[in-house]
Amino acid sequence: MAVDDALSSPLGPPACEKDAKALQFIEEMTRNADLVQEKVLAEILNRNKHVEYLKRFKLDGATDKDTFKSKIPMITYDDLQPDIQRIANGDRSAILSAHPISEFLTSSGTSAGERKLMPTIQEELDRRQLLYSLLMPVMNLYVPGLDKGKGLYFLFIKSETKTPGGLLARPVLTSYYKSDHFKTRPYDPYNVYTSPNEAILCADSFQSMFTQMLCGLLERQQVLRVGAVFASGLLRAIRFLQLNWRDLALDIESGTLNKRVTDPCLRDCMVKILKPNPELAEFIRFQCSKENWEGIITRIWPNTKYLDVIVTGAMAQYIPTLDYYSGGLPLACTMYASSECYFGLNLNPMCKPSEVSYTIMPNMAYFEFLPHEPHSAGLTCDSPPKLVDLVDVELGKEYELVITTYAGLCRYRVGDILRVTGFHNSAPQFHFVRRKNVLLSIDSDKTDEAELQKAVENASQLLREYNTSVVEYTSYADTKTIPGHYVIYWELLIKDSTNSPSEKVLSECCVAMEESMNSVYRQGRVADNSIGPLEIRVVKNGTFEELMDYAISRGASINQYKVPRCVNFTPIMELLDSRVVSRHFSPSLPHWTPERRRL
Ligand code: AMP
Repeated sequence: MAVDDALSSPLGPPACEKDAKALQFIEEMTRNADLVQEKVLAEILNRNKHVEYLKRFKLDGATDKDTFKSKIPMITYDDLQPDIQRIANGDRSAILSAHPISEFLTSSGTSAGERKLMPTIQEELDRRQLLYSLLMPVMNLYVPGLDKGKGLYFLFIKSETKTPGGLLARPVLTSYYKSDHFKTRPYDPYNVYTSPNEAILCADSFQSMFTQMLCGLLERQQVLRVGAVFASGLLRAIRFLQLNWRDLALDIESGTLNKRVTDPCLRDCMVKILKPNPELAEFIRFQCSKENWEGIITRIWPNTKYLDVIVTGAMAQYIPTLDYYSGGLPLACTMYASSECYFGLNLNPMCKPSEVSYTIMPNMAYFEFLPHEPHSAGLTCDSPPKLVDLVDVELGKEYELVITTYAGLCRYRVGDILRVTGFHNSAPQFHFVRRKNVLLSIDSDKTDEAELQKAVENASQLLREYNTSVVEYTSYADTKTIPGHYVIYWELLIKDSTNSPSEKVLSECCVAMEESMNSVYRQGRVADNSIGPLEIRVVKNGTFEELMDYAISRGASINQYKVPRCVNFTPIMELLDSRVVSRHFSPSLPHWTPERRRL
């Protein structure tokens, strides 16, 4: 389709008229970032002027930036917890937002071991959909012909609960996939999935994965891109194929559906899709029975142009494995988002993962930036932090993201550290540096130092009757296997060698550690199968002293040396592994139910 010249974009020639409009929107927003931000803030403050939270800080209906900044404090989730609790308990008064809270989005960030509850309002779905609608127009600038085939995306919903006051609490993607915005999306030739809605919306993760994989295999020649939200999710799909290709091939051969798929609506849908195809079944068996799975993605889906997965932040650890299975296909990180708010998109999605920058879209929320001093201990009381506006951030500097959203979060610290890498028009572009306070992460779990410490303390209680204690420990997120798992190195002090803890006791310590982890970790173990059993590796006495010697030989100060609570530097891993005397795995799953432990 020829695109009107008037709709052409500085980002590049749009693929169609719809794309031209989307690119033009990006241009408008980024050119006028400051103005848009001011309007967004005024709109949020104006509609919420009678809301309890803003009244509490005596904003008195002001909608300007200066008054807002002088009166409203920067906060964390814990500051907001009492208000969130009231809403969760059923208080329907306008506490945070004039618009009714439609549901809670359960973040993978936790507070007191449970997922944080993020209030949201109905219209936020439109904003999320708007950001999604910008992704393909940008991708089409770099990859032509995506309208000639389909995307194989592994998308899942997760369990949901209700708060005591009756509001739904579920992950943001579950909310999105279950919405009409997603379910009744209009046909777009550039955005056709192999997975039917029925497969994505099936709550049983085996049935959902099985049918999504089956559809992907049936349409293998049409697949032009393969993806999941995060890298760990795509690798889980590859692992699923490794474990289930025989059953999948059987269904393809016979044109009948595996009995383990019991969801009636999903069965109805699949019956219409499945036709006997012995030739394809033979091909799948031939490829999957090979010892070597290198390049399996391109062998099965030969027309794949790129993998659409987030590999920035904690997901960067999966890049080598993805490269192995895909034969080095480009990895596209398209967007940056959270339960609190969707932030922005990557305007150059085919760039190398290490060069990914996200452009924050100024219409999504009001954004401020807390200068991040990587080596300072924290903020001093006498100098209140000065937050910088979106257009005022400086190239090369690091900041923590602070947001004010339409749903009622005001100057809320997201916890992400970003570095400015450039600008598109007047909108800055950010490299995702890391999330604060995350020590270990395999999938969406985020375990911090205090949680690990508590887990070690709880587990080491079991060693007491053996007169044994954990004198030092460190940890490592082992992602060489799928799913990855936590490895905890323990140096033990065994006071009575005739009564040392047995193998059974040490495996119980693994279970105790897992029971102490937050609910996102336990959900990953139990429901999502995205995290493998925790492993304790007991190391020889003196190992941690050697670790210190090594650090000092590399320039660490003896006085200030602290045992790193997480390691990933190869020489250190090698040192630790060469001193391992025994390895113990968690023999069972920890407890997890969708219900929250508190509230
Ligand atoms: P959740 O609230 O569970 O949806 O998690 C949101 C968090 O995931 C963000 O605050 C980031 O820490 C992380 N995240 C989301 N998108 C990206 C991305 N593109 N790159 C790196 N980290 C991301």
